Amino acid sequence: MSVNHNDIKEFLLKSSGREIRINPNNEIPKSPNPLKLSKWYEEELKWINKQIDELEEEFGMCNICKEGCNHCCKLAVPVSHAELLIIQKETSKFSADIKDELLTKTVNICKLLDANELSSNIHPSRHHSNEGIKASYYELNITCPLLNDEGRCMIYPVRPVSCCTYRAYNSYNDCINAHVVDTAIAFDEYGLFLNNNMAKAKKDKAYFKLIPLALRDALSKRL
Ligand code: SF4
Repeated sequence: MSVNHNDIKEFLLKSSGREIRINPNNEIPKSPNPLKLSKWYEEELKWINKQIDELEEEFGMCNICKEGCNHCCKLAVPVSHAELLIIQKETSKFSADIKDELLTKTVNICKLLDANELSSNIHPSRHHSNEGIKASYYELNITCPLLNDEGRCMIYPVRPVSCCTYRAYNSYNDCINAHVVDTAIAFDEYGLFLNNNMAKAKKDKAYFKLIPLALRDALSKRL
């Protein structure tokens, strides 16, 4: 069934304000221990995604995102300090060769960001300035360094909040060559819920960087 922007607006209108349920069996760790934080986050992503699935079912919306589709991996993804710890934990499992290859790729992307003055921290609440950053980032045609050669996310179970709360509803074609897709939704309320909870463990709200910059920090241990 074809979905247009009005369907998306109606879905958002009807579903917004829905209370986000707290997972009673997954308490946020009280300290930023990367292993505990990572385990908490992986579980919490499933919990939050289940709630978004339920909303879709209730309002008859069919999410078309599937593993291996990665058009949205060209979008600007902000990463918090807590997410960075999780990424660092996850990438520490990679072999030395893969880490080296990833770091080289990431450093090259960061040079491109530096050259285009896109290396500053992001302020997630400043939507207007972020729109400019997102547009400029997209113009550089950067693919997330964490997308592997098979087109799959290397840290999928603990991918950043922005990645896992973004869903498309009409056609994959809408997501090709577009950084603003009016038939997709970024479930910001759910993202905020996750970010606020993570901030309880890692109280450093100042750090929000674009994913290549955060990944460079994680791989080179510049935290
Ligand atoms: S972290 Fe994973 S899902 Fe997110 S943009 Fe990168 S490759 Fe895509």
